[in-house]
Amino acid sequence: MPYAITQNCCSDATCVAVCPVNCIHPTPEERAFGSTEMLHVDPKTCIDCGACADACPVDAIFPVDRLLPSQREYASINAAYFEGVDVEGVGFEGVEPAPVEDGPNFHAWGAPTFERTLPSDFAPLRVAVVGTGPAGMYAAQDLLLHTPAEVTLIDRLPVAGGLLRYGVAPDHPATRKAQDSFARFHTHPRVRTHLGIEVGRDVTADELAAHHDAVIYAVGASTDRRLGIPGEDLAGSAAATAFVAWYNGHPEVPADAVELSGERVVVVGNGNVALDVARILVSDPDALAATEIAPHALAALRASTVREVVVLGRRGPRDAAYSRSELLALRHLPGVELVVDDSDPRTGRAIEAAAPGDRAAVLRDVPRRAVDWSLPPAGGRRIVLRFHSAPVAAVGDGAVRAVRVTDDGAEDGVEVPTGLLLRAIGYRGVPVPGLPFEESTGTVPHERGRVRGLPGTYVVGWIKRGPSGGIGANRGCAAETVGTLLADAVAGALTAPTGRPRAFRRLVKRRR
Ligand code: SF4
Repeated sequence: MPYAITQNCCSDATCVAVCPVNCIHPTPEERAFGSTEMLHVDPKTCIDCGACADACPVDAIFPVDRLLPSQREYASINAAYFEGVDVEGVGFEGVEPAPVEDGPNFHAWGAPTFERTLPSDFAPLRVAVVGTGPAGMYAAQDLLLHTPAEVTLIDRLPVAGGLLRYGVAPDHPATRKAQDSFARFHTHPRVRTHLGIEVGRDVTADELAAHHDAVIYAVGASTDRRLGIPGEDLAGSAAATAFVAWYNGHPEVPADAVELSGERVVVVGNGNVALDVARILVSDPDALAATEIAPHALAALRASTVREVVVLGRRGPRDAAYSRSELLALRHLPGVELVVDDSDPRTGRAIEAAAPGDRAAVLRDVPRRAVDWSLPPAGGRRIVLRFHSAPVAAVGDGAVRAVRVTDDGAEDGVEVPTGLLLRAIGYRGVPVPGLPFEESTGTVPHERGRVRGLPGTYVVGWIKRGPSGGIGANRGCAAETVGTLLADAVAGALTAPTGRPRAFRRLVKRRR
């Protein structure tokens, strides 16, 4: 019985490397890698060895005959990926981009590698990695597994993990499990970890550079993008990222930061964060109690009067940024109705016209109706997807009472009553003191990971490429940055540290 990859796929290609018959695609060498939402097993060539399932860091791979009812669609999703690709590598409309690089020999792709080739007299480097989220840990892993480097891990928070710890929804335990595969490096004999240390507050970038051959910044994108509408700063209007941090027990978000006393919440945005937030708000608290959700958030959700979450998308259902698998999961949420508000006729037309494999096609089985927003939410718990809708104002006197929504940016429009408005329109990087910063993109300017104008300084993850791509996208990103760093080292372009490791440890201890 072949295996199938399911919802939690992190696309880091660990499974690809262990498959003996190379039947998991796209591989990191194929052009579709990084643009597909997930990897796929070809059921025609899978030999049922189970190696991929053992290696998968997020438990996303199962034999087809052991898929849960809510996962069964993934058997056909995996198979369809290969059926939709002809021998020229051209996918049919609506299916993921074609993976074939090398013509008609469809199953003869070379095995992917993340190997390093270094000179035999290569001296061990001392490298600081700032940030212990997936990007930083993939970089540290690459250095530790493929070079004799010593690594100093630094994080501004008192707990390691970054977005894996504080950004992944608690009801996605398999995705959070990726932390385990990184945690083994925290105690690696060539690693020193310093938590609760912030560059710019406790140590300067210059001090870090003076004690290491190279410094890799993996600080992510720690703030959110704003809507820029009147009333956005009213009480009851917040960033969805703050809500995510709240239910994950982030140390910088107070336990009483969220008020859930209304019946309806409006979430602006059509990405996976918007769906995470909507799902958590209407999930059965008893189901959440079995997760790692913060106790204060669970108590607030038990007392919550929220019954309806409206997810607003500025464009149509075919342009949504959430993954098909997250949308599929909403259809299987126990006790929660998923509804599409089709008061705009473009919504229904787009769903009907969606090709197989298009995420909008998932909505064909979802009830559609024109919602009358002048009425209170219907009984029961539900999530309403409303497309072609942009918020133009948060309305209220001191606190949000409603969100005014239009389909064309005009100032009039329908008012959707709500006591809580969450914006989920993306993360944004913030400047690191001592590093250049590109305001327009919220990133550090770089060439293949090397920070422009700062030899020996590198970036990886969202602060390098902007806030897009899931966990696995960071593996290739880290491979590029570490490759640049090692090439610089081999070329003699790095400056040897002037401070010894012990001196750095003393410095950190004094400043902490
Ligand atoms: Fe490859 Fe074995 Fe996984 Fe099948 S079960 S996809 S052959 S690793």
